[in-house]
Amino acid sequence: MAAEIHSRPQSSRPVLLSKVEGHQDVVSAALLIPKEDGVITASEDRTIRVWLKRDSGQYWPSIYHTMSSPCSAMAYHHDSRRIFVGQDNGAIMEFHISEDFNKMNFVKTYPAHQNRVSAITFCLASEWVISTGHDKCISWMCTRSGSMLGRHYFTSWASCLQYDHETRHAFVGDYSGQITLLKLEQNTCSVITTLKGHEGSITSLWWDPAQRLLFSGASDHSIIMWDIGGRKGRTLLLQGHHDKVQAICYIQLTRQLVSCSADGGIAVWNMDISREEAPQWLESDSCQKCEQPFFWNIKQMWDTKTLGLRQHHCRKCGQAVCGKCSTKRSSYPIMGFEFQVRVCDSCFESIKDEDRTSLATFHEGKHNISHMSMDISRGLMVTCGSDRIVKIWDMTPVVGCSLATGFSSR
Ligand SMILES: [Zn+2]
Ligand SMILES: [Zn+2]
Repeated sequence: MAAEIHSRPQSSRPVLLSKVEGHQDVVSAALLIPKEDGVITASEDRTIRVWLKRDSGQYWPSIYHTMSSPCSAMAYHHDSRRIFVGQDNGAIMEFHISEDFNKMNFVKTYPAHQNRVSAITFCLASEWVISTGHDKCISWMCTRSGSMLGRHYFTSWASCLQYDHETRHAFVGDYSGQITLLKLEQNTCSVITTLKGHEGSITSLWWDPAQRLLFSGASDHSIIMWDIGGRKGRTLLLQGHHDKVQAICYIQLTRQLVSCSADGGIAVWNMDISREEAPQWLESDSCQKCEQPFFWNIKQMWDTKTLGLRQHHCRKCGQAVCGKCSTKRSSYPIMGFEFQVRVCDSCFESIKDEDRTSLATFHEGKHNISHMSMDISRGLMVTCGSDRIVKIWDMTPVVGCSLATGFSSR
């Protein structure tokens, strides 16, 4: 599979199939309806719309529902045709969509949060609707009774959520850059651990239950893969975006990670190779190459009567080095550095040309992506954003979906 992916010509790129326009404000979420040429959108303009592709090839709304508050998040369960819409006022509303996608009936309102709902997940087996919000909490409510089962508060806005249905573990990303792993019980929960690695708010999470991998995207432009199943605290850093990472999706069959950033960047990362962990940055009072003191090391500066230097770090070996000993820049994809970063002179010498071969492909979405979701079985992706536009993409030229599932490219 990896060989197949590598041998593809560089001209392969996502194919824009359709553009859906007509929203009056930011589109917060968009989902592809499985096995249908249809998209469901939730927008800040307070509308929920179901768009179906007509004979003309254009998408037109078959459902257009106006809510009382801007829509901020959405979860859709296709088999039961249930849709949960989170709003800016903190409430989640449940609707039932008819088989022909022409009608949407109100079912229930859940007073889940005091403030904007940021993410929703529905679990049919337990009949729970789980959500996070800007009231700094995760809440889980019973969809049968409509009552609140439990709540847990964080120190900052909870921004994204992934849930392991089998083991009832929830991963919650927040604005402080932390990810909290919780085990949810009927009326209580316990904090298992917190994952710290990002330098900005967590914007997106993806949990792969089979390989037990967690991926997190953040406003610091980076993605981290947390090898939860490995139990050794192994993390891989992926740096290739030049703006906030807004959405991620891991394709387990082909071991590819698709990520989108606010500037419209779409990246497809090859995770089917053994990548290396980026080193911890070492602390030192003097350059670990030339031994010149850094400027805060007053004693050595005084003793040797030299001027202190600024401390930098080599991204490859993690050593604390001065500017003079780290003049070179290099990409180093095996450690996730897809663009040039600071390396010390000896590490620069050790990096061969073939080490600079990219392990991801980068594409232009040409719009401000705030949300993305994929229909992996068909190799389709939908992106939406602050430019009020929804785009539907054929991703089969860049992801191995067709190889893995037998779905042929259109
Ligand atoms: Zn030095
Ligand atoms: Zn180095």
